[in-house]
Formats: sequence, C-alpha cells, structure tokens
Amino acid sequence: MNQNNYTAAQAAELILKKMDESDKILIGAGAGLSAAAGLSYMDQEAFKKHYPEMAQRGFHFAYELVGRGDDEWTAGRKWAYWATHINYVRNIFPQAKLYSTLLEVLKDRDFFIVTSNTDRQFMRAGFPMERVFEFQGNYDNMGCSVRCTKKTWNNHEYLQHILKNIDHETFECLPEALPRCPYCGELADICFRGDDYKIHQQRYIDFVEASADKRICLIELGVGFNTPGVIRWPFENITYHIDNAYLFRINTSYKDYPYGRTAQTGYPSQIEGKITSLELDANEVINEMFKLI
Ligand SMILES: [Zn+2]
Repeated sequence: MNQNNYTAAQAAELILKKMDESDKILIGAGAGLSAAAGLSYMDQEAFKKHYPEMAQRGFHFAYELVGRGDDEWTAGRKWAYWATHINYVRNIFPQAKLYSTLLEVLKDRDFFIVTSNTDRQFMRAGFPMERVFEFQGNYDNMGCSVRCTKKTWNNHEYLQHILKNIDHETFECLPEALPRCPYCGELADICFRGDDYKIHQQRYIDFVEASADKRICLIELGVGFNTPGVIRWPFENITYHIDNAYLFRINTSYKDYPYGRTAQTGYPSQIEGKITSLELDANEVINEMFKLI
C-alpha cells in the first residue's frame, strides 16, 4: 500500500523538518536497513559465493538457515555453518557507508536506536553504543551450552579457529576444533544476547519513558513483519500513547525475496494523522537527508 507519492528527496525534507521540531529521535532499524546497505539474508548470489557447501546442499539464501541447527545438524555442521555465516557478516562484508551517513544525520541530536539486526553495523560505523539497543543481541557473543555461567565472551578467535578446521567435503567442523566453554569444558554455544544485555535494554526503556511528555520523532527503517514484536508494534504503540509522537515508516520490497512483495507500509487506523508511511528505499532517503544537513 503506497500511502502517497513522495520522492526520496521530498521525504527527506519532511523528516528533517519534523526532526528539527522534535526533542527526541527514536530510530527503529530492521533487516531492510542492512539490505538497503547491500547486506541481505535474501541475497542468492552472495549465498552461492560465500556458502558454496550449503548451496550445493539445496539451500538458496541465508535467511532459510536462521534458527536451524540444534535439532537437525551435528555439532560439526552447526559450527561449520555458523562460523562461515558470522565470518561473512562480521568480517567479509564491509562496514556499510549507509550507516556512517545515518550517523552524520543524527549526531547532533538526542537520538536512540533500537535494532533487530545482529550484524554490528551500528558499532562498525562508530555509533555511541550507549545509544543503541540490539534487541536480538549480536553476532559477537558466545556462551556455555549447559549454562554453567551467565557470562558471555567474544567469539572471534573461536570462529577463526573453526574456519581453519572445516572439512569442506562434509562441511563439518573437525571434532577436536569444536569450541569449548572456558569455565567448564562443555561445548560452547552461539549466544546472541551478551551478559550486558539488560543494561542496554534499560537505556532503551529510560529513553522512551523520558520521551513521554516530549516531542518525539520515530523513524522506522526497513522494518517488516519477520519480527514485528521487536520494533514495529512497539513503535505503533509509542506513537499512539505519546501525544506529541510522530512516526515515519520507510520500507521497500526486498529485491531478492522469492515470496512476493515485502514493503508492508500499512498501519493501524488508530494512529492516522500521526504517521507518514513511505514505500521508499532507506538508502535513498538517508542519502537525501545527508545532502540537506
Ligand atoms: Zn560452561
């Protein structure tokens, strides 16, 4: 549903004007923002190139494999896949200019970001991470599979070791190279939410609570319906409940998504008059905003 016919340049002007009139800016960044920056879990070409063993086994794109592993795969397969996937997202895919541009647009404002993305692009772009809440955690953490401790630790060295010990015929990590918990020696596990998760979560809650009697501009960038409870529905709620809230919803369809249109720019009638929904590419809108600051 296209709500209007704004161009990216017109949308940028509109959003900046509202930002200038607002005390606080709350950004919600979904998978569509990284897709707009070129990092898409729907990208079939990148999948063939960087995950050839899984492409040979009949898979087509990384999103098919989100949440797979524990029940279906051996520990060796699971770690071969996760080390390959995280290495692609964190190390092979470059820091995206789009995120740096967004930081330029936001830097002198009272902003906060909540994201469902685990790819760490906000950190890599130099965002102050006390202003970013990674709702679903991130790809840098590892924990204990039997939860002998609540501590988490950085997985980088572990994953590099696994990558050197993958049998590319079977696409399994060799048993002796499987990552172990440094506290108890059991197998380690991917752990998206680090042991500092609650601190970041509280900062998000504090920001929203402090906005209750303020003028707040909410901007959704590439937020769809894969995990609507993370950003989309809370943003609609915040917009509804705070008198001086205004929401911009910016989303476009994934180019590579095989199951049809995904832009999903609709909204509930209860927030009519407090939202502008734009079926536009976040990349274009952010670049147009940058030109105007
Ligand atoms: Zn342990």
